[in-house]
Amino acid sequence: MEQQTRRKIKELEVMVADVIYETPDTRTLVLFTGNDSLEYKAGHFLTIAPQQFPALERWTSYLEEVKGKKEPPRAYSLSSAPCEKYLSITVKEERYTPKVTPFPPLLSPILSLRTSIGTRMVITGFTGPYTLPEDVETKTEHILHVCAGSGIVPSYSIIKQSLFTENKLKHTLIYSNKTWVDTIFSQQLLDLQKRFPDNFKVIFTLTREPDKSIFSKNILEGRVSKELILKHVCDLSNQFVFVCGPGISNFEKAQAKANGTEPVPRFLEAALQNLKEIGFSNDKIKKESYG
Ligand SMILES: Cc1cc2nc3c(=O)[nH]c(=O)nc-3n(C[C@H](O)[C@H](O)[C@H](O)COP(=O)(O)OP(=O)(O)OC[C@H]3O[C@@H](n4cnc5c(N)ncnc54)[C@H](O)[C@@H]3O)c2cc1C
Repeated sequence: MEQQTRRKIKELEVMVADVIYETPDTRTLVLFTGNDSLEYKAGHFLTIAPQQFPALERWTSYLEEVKGKKEPPRAYSLSSAPCEKYLSITVKEERYTPKVTPFPPLLSPILSLRTSIGTRMVITGFTGPYTLPEDVETKTEHILHVCAGSGIVPSYSIIKQSLFTENKLKHTLIYSNKTWVDTIFSQQLLDLQKRFPDNFKVIFTLTREPDKSIFSKNILEGRVSKELILKHVCDLSNQFVFVCGPGISNFEKAQAKANGTEPVPRFLEAALQNLKEIGFSNDKIKKESYG
């Protein structure tokens, strides 16, 4: 089975057919793939090697020298759903915070903010474990998604695929961001809820929203807590959960080990802890860390 999956992974040259503004630091790149057949599942990702961009050449060489290793390809989940005509990814710009992040980010600034229509690039895809099990409908009727920031991307694809192909699954999405302006796909998610009221519900949680007038039944202030999950998700038994967002990175783990401390939990670890306390077993949870 694994071998089969591996064989399907291939390199494709694509052209950026459209660049869609999502939030101030996030863009969706619609990718034109020619006649290549696109076999992917909702929740899969592709990878993009930074070495292929002439504009990044010196920067990539410099980082490779300083870090003493080749810069690996970066992974991007597909924001399109397999039932849609076009392939797309949605990229959020990573920021450099002096004294906090050791290096300025390499690929995301160029993909999110400096890529224009007509740009060509080579992608490798498609793979990843963040997908619905084949026989999901025999196991559950309800999927819970707990996401933060660009962690919405694979769940957005899964939710669209499920709603547009009229399977019977119901989805509840709890989606955390700093502010409403930062919230990727906010309007598209509200539109989906309006169009599929029986099968899709979205709860937004905002941690640093300055405009208090924005809060409502669906847009809440604060973090994703155990109480919030329990309040908004009925019938927790038998649900599958998809959790995606920033988690502790390998760098943070190594740094904490060197300092003899424990790494500070981020969104992913906090969400998993809440779900565990509520009683979800590991076999009901799929997770993806963007840290
Ligand atoms: C399965 C998966 C799917 C993903 N999907 C998406 C998506 O849909 N959309 C999206 O926007 N992102 C997604 N990501 C994140 C994406 O792959 C990149 O990590 C992100 O875009 C940042 O890449 P970058 O090259 O800009 O930054 P990087 O150069 O990778 O830097 C990121 C951070 O790591 C630090 N860092 C880098 N190298 C080192 C080092 N050697 N030691 C210590 N610290 C270091 C940097 O200082 C910086 O803070 C996904 C990640 C995974 C694993």
